[in-house]
Amino acid sequence: MTPAAGTGRATPGRSDEQWYAADGQVVAGVEKLRFFPQVTAAGRGSILTTPEGRELLDLSASWTATGLGHAHPAVVQAVTDAVSTQATGSILSGSHPEAVLLAEELLGLVATTGTERRVYLGHAGTDANDVALRAVRHATGRPGILAFERGYHGGLGGSMAVSGLHVAAGAVPDPHLRLVPYPDPYRPWTGDPATLLEQTLARVEEHLAGGDVAAVFVEPIQSDGGVIVPPDGFLAGLREATARHGALLVIDEVKVGLGRTGHFLAHHAEGVLPDLVTLGKVLGSGLPLSAVVGPAAALDEPSASALMTTIGNPVSCAAGRAVLRLLRDGSLAKAAQVRGAQLRAGLEAYAASDRPGAAHVGDVRGRGLALGVELVDPGTREPATGLTARAVYALWRLGGIAYPVRDNVIEITPALTISEAEVDHAVELLSGAIDAAVSGEVSEEDVAPFSGW
Ligand SMILES: *Cc1c(COP(=O)(O)O)cnc(C)c1O
Repeated sequence: MTPAAGTGRATPGRSDEQWYAADGQVVAGVEKLRFFPQVTAAGRGSILTTPEGRELLDLSASWTATGLGHAHPAVVQAVTDAVSTQATGSILSGSHPEAVLLAEELLGLVATTGTERRVYLGHAGTDANDVALRAVRHATGRPGILAFERGYHGGLGGSMAVSGLHVAAGAVPDPHLRLVPYPDPYRPWTGDPATLLEQTLARVEEHLAGGDVAAVFVEPIQSDGGVIVPPDGFLAGLREATARHGALLVIDEVKVGLGRTGHFLAHHAEGVLPDLVTLGKVLGSGLPLSAVVGPAAALDEPSASALMTTIGNPVSCAAGRAVLRLLRDGSLAKAAQVRGAQLRAGLEAYAASDRPGAAHVGDVRGRGLALGVELVDPGTREPATGLTARAVYALWRLGGIAYPVRDNVIEITPALTISEAEVDHAVELLSGAIDAAVSGEVSEEDVAPFSGW
């Protein structure tokens, strides 16, 4: 057994395969979304190390939750300090400085409507959106929620019930949910990209005209729905329409917020002012932490209506404050732009090459370090679903980690701290993986145990 490079240690006792098999025996399936037998024992920056010491280049960053890199020294220090003093384990019945400071800092960084504003501090994107959902109904007295087909706002309860992806997969929808197609320029629901924005906004308008919609929930880039970058003017159009109809606009920045797109928040690209913003994933740098920022009128009442004992705990809050300190000067957002452009150029060069898998790349898209590679049948442009499952499996075999979204899109969301050399390596690994999948180096049997989405 070799020691894990980058960490100086390997985990003795069991092989990678044995750890993974043991997981299957003891850890519940309801929390699994697996695509290959990934097991890692340590991480630093963009490198994860398996128990046996094999290194993997992480191009997902745990779906962006570790989006500043694993074991970032500033986060390690902040968390170590907070857990060493452990001011309290709960914010429910008493305050502590880390929570107050984190909320103050978020209010300073995240603009929304409202003169009196508040911050809800939670555990996950799921409870943040659940709280936002109840807040908008409470504030407007209206029941309706407008969201988008293939949207993702959470994996349990209320936020799951307004997530188009889950509803399409059989989750019970919220009784007052209205779903509108998200404007996907590569696969426009109108059949014509030229009319896509206008017709999508017309659909939204029809629903808002009824007067019973409390809020529109929207992802500025629809991530799990396929890394879809909407046409320019989409968020501005939603802002204008919601304001005119007395509905609120909730922008879900859980995945692409906090520097990833090259902007502090993804919706800053359009300069819109939302009513509520939800944050999560990288906010805790791998620890459970989420937030909703918005008007006090929506987030203050009813009191004691969103209770989970350890929300707002000082350890997670300290991690969040460290993350905001790292993001504050904008250099990580700038790095996301530069490294994102490098990654995208590399993938586009691959797609234009005569390598075996190149013709299967239908589209390379995204913004900053939120990128997607859509794999298609070269003849028909139909989604190449099986090929995508085999490609991410091949990637794992070659030494990289990325996951598929919407069945045929490889989502690439590495840490914002990924280096230039690591991006070059990422392009090599991804190109090699698509080639390997096309050439039949991964079989149906290899991927069969991994049900994925
Ligand atoms: C991941 C995600 C969520 C849910 O966050 P969890 O931390 O998984 O609960 C909500 N919205 C978006 C856009 C996400 O990507």
